[in-house]
Order: sequence, then structure tokens, then C-alpha cells
Amino acid sequence: MGVFLIFKKLAKIFLMCYYIFMESFCKQCPRHCKVNRKESVGFCGAKNFCQISKVMFHHWEEPVISGGEKDAGSGAIFFSHCNLKCVYCQNYEISHFDVGKSCIDAELAMIFRDLEQNGALNINLVTPTHYAQNIINALKIYRPKIPIVYNTGGYDSPEMLKKLKNYVDVYLTDFKYYDNALAEKYSSAPKYLENIKKCLRIMRENCPEDIVENGLMKKGIIVRHLILPNHTDDSIKVLDEIKNILGEKTYISLMSQYTPHGKACDFEEINRKLKPLEYKRVKNHLIKLGFINGFVQELESATEEYIPDFETKEN
Ligand code: SF4
Repeated sequence: MGVFLIFKKLAKIFLMCYYIFMESFCKQCPRHCKVNRKESVGFCGAKNFCQISKVMFHHWEEPVISGGEKDAGSGAIFFSHCNLKCVYCQNYEISHFDVGKSCIDAELAMIFRDLEQNGALNINLVTPTHYAQNIINALKIYRPKIPIVYNTGGYDSPEMLKKLKNYVDVYLTDFKYYDNALAEKYSSAPKYLENIKKCLRIMRENCPEDIVENGLMKKGIIVRHLILPNHTDDSIKVLDEIKNILGEKTYISLMSQYTPHGKACDFEEINRKLKPLEYKRVKNHLIKLGFINGFVQELESATEEYIPDFETKEN
């Protein structure tokens, strides 16, 4: 009997240790890397504190986020690193390399406060997925009265999104691919489709209603899709899927600004800008599906002018 009790206790201690060990692994995105970010880094390259590449008033997001010409703009915080390493990333310099200023959670909270005090329309967290827990910690320290925008590549952990429920007001999410083979090829993201479908449903549970007041989104979801050259079939399936999941009242942002960047030159089929006919095909499909809210970029936006300069010292 005594031996049995000792064995039971030992098994319990072993299980507890195993649980603590497993919990120390990062689960902030669906990759579930087997790393403790206090000691090393996983796929995204992020440590357990934030790194920020730029803080700016952003005027080129969707009008419901950036406001009009007379507004201060969206208070954008560009986080370094990314859990999607898209070969064509428009922010390649900050997503693929270890750059940016390190920042503890309390400092991040002060950035929120400073942006708010300087008239930002919202706090726009650009590529936040791998820092979701730091963002929650910072929002516990200081919660601005302006909307918190979660501006994500769409490869989020459903569990983390549930945790973000009371912290995020607007989900500005990409839906990049329908075909998982493309997600693997260009973003090294397995099961992208299954994951984004789950994420969209959770975002909708977190924010059941889209609320736009005086032309600015206060609560809700905007789904972005960047059309890739030679992949309009995939774009059409993405639009169909958005309608299936969220309906035709969804705020859609159809982006045609693709310019080959980063390692896109290694992939012949995406090593060019979009052709007018490709753009027209996807845009017509969007209209055919009956979406009534949203934004369509004109082809002229496909210029590097709209990529923030991460080299400047004016941050
Ligand atoms: S956030 Fe980074 S370290 Fe954590 S699971 Fe995702 S890729 Fe891995």
C-alpha cells in the first residue's frame, strides 16, 4: 500500500513538472514552437519582450482606420519579426531580420498613452501575433479610450484570440490564401485555410457587430486580401469563403498594391506587379458576390511609395 502511495505521488509530481515544462513553450501562434522565449527564439525570431521598428501616424490604411486628410491618422506600431515569413513581404526588412527597439510591456503601455494623447484615432498594432501576450500585459497597465486595432497576417492562435476578446476592438486581418499549398510555398504556413476559418469565427464571436461612427470603425472586423499575380483563382476562392463565413455585409479590403519585394524575385510567377485584367477579374467577382461594405485599391497603389520607410530616424 505504502509503495503504491509513493508511486502515485511521484507520478503526480512528474505530471506537474511535465505540465510546467510544456507550458513554458510558446503557443502564441499556431506553430506552437517548442521553445521557451525567455531562453531562445522560435520560427518568428521574437524574444519574450517586444521589438518595435516604427511608431507613426499612418494615413494609408483603410479610411475607417486612418480617417481623412485632416485627421492625425492611425497610431501605428510596427512590431519587428513575424510568424509568417512571406517571401514577398512588403515589410521584409522588419519581419525577417532582428531589428527594432526592445521594449518592456510597461514601455509599450506608455507608447499607447503617447499616441492617444497626440491625437491618434486608434492604436494600430501592426503584426501583433507573436507579441499577443505582451500586448495584453501592456493593455492591463494602460487601456486607451481609443479603439485597439489588431492588424494581423491572419495566422493567429485561436486560443490567443479568445484571450484577446476584451482587449481588441477592431480586427484588421489578412486572409491571404485559400490553397494551403500556396500558404506553404510563400509563407511557410501549414494549414493556413483551416486556421483562418477558425480565427474569423472567433473574431466574430469577440466582435459580433461592426460599428462605424463618423466614418471611423469603433468595433468590428475588416478582412484584407492582397491579390497575387498569377493567382486570381485563389483570390476568388478567398472571397467566396469570406462570404460563406461572415456574409456579404463584411467589410472587405481588396488590395492590389502588390509589388515584388523581399525574395519574390526567386518565384517567377509572382515576380511582377498585377495586370489590369487580373485586378478587374477579382474586383468583378467581389461585386458579383454582393459585398456592400469595403474598400478597393486602385492599381496605381502598386508603388513602393506606400511602404513605410523603416530606415528613418524620425520614429
Ligand atoms: S509566436 Fe513565434 S515562437 Fe511562438 S509559436 Fe509562433 S512562431 Fe513560434
